[in-house]
Amino acid sequence: MLNLKTFEVWFVTGSQHLYGEETLRQVDEHSKIIAESFNNSPQIPLRIIFKPVVKTTEEIMAICKEANATPNCVGIIAWMHTFSPAKMWISGLNVLQVPLLHLHTQFNRDIPYADIDMDFMNLNQSAHGDREFGFIMAKMRINRKVVVGHWQADSVLEKINTWSRVAVGKYKMQTMKVVRFGDNMRQVAVTDGDKVAAEMKFGFAVNTHGVGDLVQVINQISDAEIQNLIKEYEATYQMMSSLANGGAMRSSLVEAARIELGLKAFLEAGGYSAYTNTFEDLHGMRQLPGIGSQRMMAAGYGYGGEGDWKTSAMVHVMKVMASGMKGGNSFMEDYTYHFDPKNPMVLGSHMLEICPSIADGQVKCEVHPLGIGGKEDPVRLVFNGSAGSALNVSLIDIGNRFRMIVNEVEAVEVTQEFPKLPTARALWKPQPSMEIGLQSWILAGGAHHTVYSQNLTTEYLEDLTDMLGIELVVIDKSTTIRQLKSDLRMNEVIFK
Ligand code: MN
Repeated sequence: MLNLKTFEVWFVTGSQHLYGEETLRQVDEHSKIIAESFNNSPQIPLRIIFKPVVKTTEEIMAICKEANATPNCVGIIAWMHTFSPAKMWISGLNVLQVPLLHLHTQFNRDIPYADIDMDFMNLNQSAHGDREFGFIMAKMRINRKVVVGHWQADSVLEKINTWSRVAVGKYKMQTMKVVRFGDNMRQVAVTDGDKVAAEMKFGFAVNTHGVGDLVQVINQISDAEIQNLIKEYEATYQMMSSLANGGAMRSSLVEAARIELGLKAFLEAGGYSAYTNTFEDLHGMRQLPGIGSQRMMAAGYGYGGEGDWKTSAMVHVMKVMASGMKGGNSFMEDYTYHFDPKNPMVLGSHMLEICPSIADGQVKCEVHPLGIGGKEDPVRLVFNGSAGSALNVSLIDIGNRFRMIVNEVEAVEVTQEFPKLPTARALWKPQPSMEIGLQSWILAGGAHHTVYSQNLTTEYLEDLTDMLGIELVVIDKSTTIRQLKSDLRMNEVIFK
């Protein structure tokens, strides 16, 4: 589990020398109280670091350069307690490379009617000081998050929580490495794309190893390691009887454990945080990794089936953003539909690779034939996804740009038995309805693969796409087809 406390956000307050020493001392003191309160808030998982008030062009430039150069500084929160003439901010903002949150707050919550005088008015000017700052950001076309409200309000803390988690996601994205074992599933379009453009836009590197390189590592795993991992399986999951010691399929379990350990060793040695594979390219492997890929995802790695590197990268990034939150994030595929007009639903699943972080209740460990790929029967974890609000997220390459598509869905409790379906599964209802949700998704070009998230909201993806400067298409309760088509047409011009 990633420790978000290893990342920091700087709290930077702008002012000017006009107000005199005493006022600036109070500005500093107030800012320190706010920054420390954020830093100590259980709602904000990162460290929030107070920085002395900046009052000149030179000081602003210096702090922006320092933020860029500081490892693990993932962003800046800026606040104008007093008026800070914004031309002083231009050169600093021009070089700033970390995301910025503009906090529009004030130190006091209420107007102190009985005591308010001109000294108070001189000190507490963010109502107009922040507008000057907002103007220069607007004029410079800088994407930023604007958060409004008293700094102790729950809604403000929650928005800072969201944005700072996203800032860590973006930070990790810039340095992450994705490895592909083999290429794409042959002829598939949506899982392919421009890996060079992706590295330019997102920072993550995608490179391929022949599956033989992985097989070599798998074959070096010791029997002792395998037996230890099998003990862990037996302690964690409800095992199918044929997988028990002496059972007819026990050798499949041994092989699955060997594959998982090989995957883990390969990824750790290469510094990879996400990977892809494909059932069409398994030379030297006896089974398609099932339980191995499922458990690597549960440990925080990104995974994409059939060579899908974009979804794999997003699985990892979304797991980073959701570190420590209740609920899970998984690679997912819209598999088949229930078109009953009274209760329409999507059945989400994959051949094997659904992350058990989304499981509701018991997780079973089973072995069954795959029916595709011509390899030995793979061991997999079988379970139901839990009920509640969720998201499906797809990142696609549409030629001149990347588009992120988000569909809000409502997962329902899986009460049906699936006696013959040997895969993990989830059932959900797309917003705003089955018909409009699916129609919108297909019009926007959303993939069949997604990242399915139980704990992130659309706001996380909105903040992320703002930080990255890429297109976002949201399909939610308020979506209409006419508006969606109009947005897609408009985006062709905006992102030209
Ligand atoms: Mn697939």
